[in-house]
Amino acid sequence: MKNIPYGRQDISDEDIAAVVAVLKSDFLTQGPNVPAFEKAIADYVGVEHAVAVNSATSALHIACMALGLESGDWLWTTPNTFVASANCGRYCGANVSFVDIDKDTYNMSVDALKDKLKTAKAAGNLPKIVVPVAFAGQSCEMAEIHALSKEYGFFVIEDASHAIGGNYLDTKIGCSKYADISILSFHPVKIITTAEGGMALTNNAELAEKLQSYRSHGITRDPKRMTHEADGAWYYQQVELGLNYRMTELQAALGVSQLKRIDEFVATRHKLAKRYDELLAGLPVTTPAQAKSGHSALHLYPVQVKDAAKRQALFDFMRSKGIGVNVHYIPVHTQPYYQELGCKPGDYPEAEAYYSRALSLPLYATLTEADQDYVVDCIREFF
Ligand SMILES: *Cc1c(COP(=O)(O)O)cnc(C)c1O
Repeated sequence: MKNIPYGRQDISDEDIAAVVAVLKSDFLTQGPNVPAFEKAIADYVGVEHAVAVNSATSALHIACMALGLESGDWLWTTPNTFVASANCGRYCGANVSFVDIDKDTYNMSVDALKDKLKTAKAAGNLPKIVVPVAFAGQSCEMAEIHALSKEYGFFVIEDASHAIGGNYLDTKIGCSKYADISILSFHPVKIITTAEGGMALTNNAELAEKLQSYRSHGITRDPKRMTHEADGAWYYQQVELGLNYRMTELQAALGVSQLKRIDEFVATRHKLAKRYDELLAGLPVTTPAQAKSGHSALHLYPVQVKDAAKRQALFDFMRSKGIGVNVHYIPVHTQPYYQELGCKPGDYPEAEAYYSRALSLPLYATLTEADQDYVVDCIREFF
């Protein structure tokens, strides 16, 4: 029986050696590898400050904290995302609402955002933070969202968990030119991995300092941040409430090693996606559209089953063939937790229509063409 997941990591001997070297070194945490990984990512995407943490979920949380999100505020995101993009607002006690998606890119719709902002302005409940998500690795229309953030006075956290290695206009996704803070995930299904891991990126030094503080208990050893002169060389102060969201040295060393192959990973994903586009032509599925404003990192290859009534049977059939197809995403506002907070099915019809037809086909750097042919053959067999 085949066992083809929808996504998986590509770990080389060099990656393994990098982790083993850390195990034999002096520091398993709080050593030189985390700053080295932060610098490598910052240089790669072209951003000034990078703060590594133990997951993208943690990065989203401290990003909201750094931007001062609190009870009574609103955070808006897309319903077509992993729950973490919304939950970060709830961790800070804020209200969460959603902006429907564009029916071609499946990203947050700029038109829907404009409409919702107008209504919110009139009602006096504008968001403090908007979290656009670069779904499947494709950037949102960030220049337009950035312009709206200036017009209406909200912060932007770009959830680029799917998207390191992609481009938007003339920038690398994650560079934060159009966002206050950008977020990356290094979960094994994402573009590069550190097992668990994430990063918050920003060009704002003040925000970077807050992110660093919140990831490690709100503790500082910087005399400039202390209320009085240090008692001695051992001295630190806790100047605010933070968490322990630190990334380990093992993870960071893996990340540095993985980053060396990122362009290769993304190129392979593009080659495979192009093959899917060709092989699926003529079958009753819609392949994912690529916007002209950028170059996707292609974390996912989500097709739309034209006949929504057949999606479940196709999913079950593919699973029975050993193919780990998946569905990205169950609209977050339909989750029981968010329904209890007042969201209702029907609130975001484009996201719900998209979901009813969605099926993610396997896509990852080590997917062989033979396995890809098998995936397409199974779809053909089903229909
Ligand atoms: C994976 C993912 C996250 C969470 O990432 P973790 O590193 O697993 O915490 C957040 N947002 C999106 C869009 C994701 O896909």
